[in-house]
Amino acid sequence: MVPWLNVVIVVSDNGRFGGKFVDRRHWRKSYPSFPRFKCPRCSQGLLTSNKDSFILKQPEHIRRDIGEAGIDMAAGRFSGFLMCNFKFCGEVVVVAGDYQEHVHYQYDDRVDEEVPDVTTTYTPGFFSPPPCIIALPKKLTDKVEEHLSDAFGLLWVDAAACANRLRIAVEYLLDQLAVPRKGKRRNGKNGDLDLSERIEALDIVRPGHKSALNALRHVGNTGSHEGTADFEDVLDCFELLEDAMLELIEERKQKLEETAKRLSQKRGKPQA
Ligand SMILES: [Zn+2]
Repeated sequence: MVPWLNVVIVVSDNGRFGGKFVDRRHWRKSYPSFPRFKCPRCSQGLLTSNKDSFILKQPEHIRRDIGEAGIDMAAGRFSGFLMCNFKFCGEVVVVAGDYQEHVHYQYDDRVDEEVPDVTTTYTPGFFSPPPCIIALPKKLTDKVEEHLSDAFGLLWVDAAACANRLRIAVEYLLDQLAVPRKGKRRNGKNGDLDLSERIEALDIVRPGHKSALNALRHVGNTGSHEGTADFEDVLDCFELLEDAMLELIEERKQKLEETAKRLSQKRGKPQA
């Protein structure tokens, strides 16, 4: 292990950009080409795909099956690199998964015949390091950040595990917001509060986030108990959590209200 390598990763910005970050157009199960994701290490660069680094391999059993079915396509596994275009960072992200190539024939009047047009679709199953799906507030505790960073990677590997990790991140977010883990339960007895009871406790002091956090709890529970979660539902959870963190940790609305108040007071002063 190279000691400085670990330090570089720990002190990196790691998605702590502030502000809203999630862009639903960026997050899909499959891509014809990879969008320019924000670099997971720095806040400056975008990830550009190096076409030459992409390797596509078709297993023999798939080649045989496609041949027997008489379909004009190819399918198999791919790997490639995406690189940060900020020259002082230059992070390298590896991506791997499945691909499909479909051949369409289109008439080309220049050559007076039908010519093949190949479209490739990449379905990533792994990114390392994974792109940040939402922005992490600067004041987020290490525990919340750790689970969210893991969730970014798990989205591609196992959406149910990702949903479960988001649920755990909510538990630690409530710790950061000083919501106790023990107290009077719904049944009137003292004991360990479950997540639902903790969300209720938060709602008393910081109202307005109960339904968003409960949605994360429900999707996380389904992920844990049934082992499945819908990719789009998990993206909804990321988006809900990003908005909740902007209000609860960065206090966006409160800061904007303070700015508005300050400006009104300034303009309201009698002219000299
Ligand atoms: Zn970078």
